[in-house]
Amino acid sequence: MRRIGILTSGGDAPGMNAAIRAAIRTALKNDLEIYGIEDGYLGLVQGKIFPLRYKDASEILTKGGTFLGSSRYPEFKEDAIQEKAVEQLRKRGIEGLVVIGGDGSYRGAQALMKKGVLCVGIPATIDNDVKGTDKTIGFSTALNTICESVNKLRDTSSSHHRCFIVEVMGNKCGKLALWSAITCGAEILINREIGFNEHQVMAELAVHDQFRKKRHALIIASEKLLDIEALAKKISLETSFSGRAISLGHIQRGGSPTPEDRLLGSMMGREAVEVLMKNENNKCICVKNDQILARDIDEALNEKDDSYAQMYALFRDMV
Ligand code: ADP
Repeated sequence: MRRIGILTSGGDAPGMNAAIRAAIRTALKNDLEIYGIEDGYLGLVQGKIFPLRYKDASEILTKGGTFLGSSRYPEFKEDAIQEKAVEQLRKRGIEGLVVIGGDGSYRGAQALMKKGVLCVGIPATIDNDVKGTDKTIGFSTALNTICESVNKLRDTSSSHHRCFIVEVMGNKCGKLALWSAITCGAEILINREIGFNEHQVMAELAVHDQFRKKRHALIIASEKLLDIEALAKKISLETSFSGRAISLGHIQRGGSPTPEDRLLGSMMGREAVEVLMKNENNKCICVKNDQILARDIDEALNEKDDSYAQMYALFRDMV
């Protein structure tokens, strides 16, 4: 292997730059040429591909987002479009590809692998919903941003006997909400795994209000599940709390990555290039019990995930 490419795809996540930096540095130290591909699979098909030099990896470690750019490009599921991508790589002599993204991006990589391009996946998404790995790049930073925001809300919340409903991201996975609920000390959690039962939420809140005499209450809710404004109004009407709703939105995607995400990105970026140097195919980089591993993608994506159940039990013991 002489020449490899790297792209970031799907939702951006803080720490992606750390992984790109590590891949550039590892490739160049091993006399591999490395090409950056702009805007994910879209840029690959359009041929937005350029050589990366040592200095391209400078001053990106501390920045959120991805300096290569990312995109959602559903057309990449089409065989003819994938063929165009393969052609763009072949004509430049790029034999291996590092794909940084979530499980959607992994599917794109799997399609390219079937067409003979050696690919390796690096899991990066604030949702931490990629199977086979304990952690994805970006989760730690997003959790940190949520904690900092909720700390501020808590100050005003206690002063005014408020109940804040804080809506967090996570897409179809309730992990970001669950981990946030534990680390922010929420009274109530609403996510896809639990579902939203308004009657039950109001009953739980009544316990905190009437029997535990709480000065404030915090509800963490996953996005796209309920109308948080409507719930806040109901809380104001039916309890002694003043209900307030806030959606943290895209601030959860941004910001300088935490040391944990920088470390994860650095370790995974280096490992991915080492996998390609060994001409190994169909791999994704995972972290298991703090060990970085290269695993078969299909095996990783089919693995059962029991971390949610363990953390949910912890949350139940904390409320
Ligand atoms: P993530 O990688 O964060 O899960 P998406 O699910 O949006 O984000 O996927 C990112 C991109 O990966 C898509 O926009 C598309 O270009 C590509 N992709 C997703 N699913 C497939 C698939 N089944 N086949 C080929 N490419 C796919």
